[in-house]
Amino acid sequence: MHQIVTKQKTFFQTNVTKDISFRIEQLKKLERVLKENEHFLNQAIFSDFKKSEFDNYTTELGIIYTEINTACKKLHKWASTKRVTTNFLNFPGKSYIIPEPLGITLIIGAWNYPYQLSISPAIAAIAAGNTVILSPSEISVATSALLAKIINSTFDPAFFKVVEGGIPETTELLNQKFDKIFFTGSTTVGKIIYEAAAKNLTPVTLELGGKSPVIIDKKCNLKICVKRLVWAKFLNAGQTCIAPDYVCVDASIKTEFLKQLTLEIKASNFKIENSNYVQIINEKNMKRLISLIDPEKIYLGGTYNYEENTIEPTVLTDVSFDDKIMEDEIFGPILPIITYKNIDEIIAQIKLKPKPLACYIFSNKNAFIKKIEKEISFGSGAINDAIMQISNENLPFGGVGQSGIGSYHGEYGFKTFSHYKSILKKSTLFEPNLKYFPLSDLKLKIIKFLMHLKL
Ligand code: NAD
Repeated sequence: MHQIVTKQKTFFQTNVTKDISFRIEQLKKLERVLKENEHFLNQAIFSDFKKSEFDNYTTELGIIYTEINTACKKLHKWASTKRVTTNFLNFPGKSYIIPEPLGITLIIGAWNYPYQLSISPAIAAIAAGNTVILSPSEISVATSALLAKIINSTFDPAFFKVVEGGIPETTELLNQKFDKIFFTGSTTVGKIIYEAAAKNLTPVTLELGGKSPVIIDKKCNLKICVKRLVWAKFLNAGQTCIAPDYVCVDASIKTEFLKQLTLEIKASNFKIENSNYVQIINEKNMKRLISLIDPEKIYLGGTYNYEENTIEPTVLTDVSFDDKIMEDEIFGPILPIITYKNIDEIIAQIKLKPKPLACYIFSNKNAFIKKIEKEISFGSGAINDAIMQISNENLPFGGVGQSGIGSYHGEYGFKTFSHYKSILKKSTLFEPNLKYFPLSDLKLKIIKFLMHLKL
């Protein structure tokens, strides 16, 4: 590990990565090699948890290609030096900001979107002019091996290298000194990463998880909202960081909501063979999820198959905030429903929990939407939809509080991997004697005037 990092340091110091055309060339190379290997990428992700070609394009590769295309198109603008106004006190002079790469970066990915969560941050890091060491999750075995094979046979390891392995290898990597660590995963491991980074004062971006609520108002387009909710919840069998975790629905529409929910789940016919469902990643997660299904509260579903590693879309009703399922992020195809009569009580309960990664509001009433937007802090969200905010690269993607630190996607990814170097360039034409000895009341008066003079 030490050798890999040292090689990248030496390479970074050649300044090659500071050349914009080098970065664009590398990004295009990445796109080319991924496109050439699409068939194998489909095979590997199917082997890991039966994710279909359809889902692999819409939720992984398509997003990666969009990120590459945007970066290539906008890189000159993002990386350009920006002039800013110079204040009167520094007259005559110029002020500008130079975006510069941080250096050697470590990216640690999660298994649930094994391509997107590893490659998208790498795109941002490369676009910003850094070198990359990528550690994909060892849990998605086939995709991790394939990423290593593709990347390591395409790129100079001194520039971009995949290091496979589990906790021991990642721990060893974390003992090295990086200029930036970008981590996607659980809040528990996020704390380990933050602690390791602190030893070297390495800046971090932590993309973590949390319990993302859905709040349904009695005034909403229920049919469309339920359709979107069901798609978002059971996509990837609920193993999505920004999946709706639980639903809070106005008691007055509970019956109609459950009726629509049942119809939509049945019509969706979630099955691996229909390309719209996946396996639970492993036995450990199967056991964890099954233990969360309270048989007394099953409204729909509840069956599972250990041989296939699947759990049927499951809806639990009459759930309260004290139930076990409301403790931690579910990360699976189980949807608890809580009903409310008073929205203030629901807001208060949500605020007792750590700040969620996402929040979804289904309502036609502006006052209702604004109230929740104002009162609840969350990473990102959507009104009358769920998950789709991630598909707009003009929106920063990230958490807040326990759900994460920092953000990325589009230009926000470039910013995450850059330092903005501020420079004041002074003229040497003259130098007023104002700040120099001997000081006087008159000088102070003039300084006070100049300091607050607006340009
Ligand atoms: P995880 O935290 O178990 O693992 C993530 C990565 O950390 C893996 O690469 C793993 O090898 C590594 N790791 C695990 N234990 C480690 C240790 N002790 N020291 C060093 N490295 C270690 O998470 P996961 O199970 O892969 O993913 C599920 C979690 O990730 C969920 O909480 C989910 O919400 C979150 N997630 C967040 C986002 C996001 O963008 N915010 C995206 C996907 C998943």
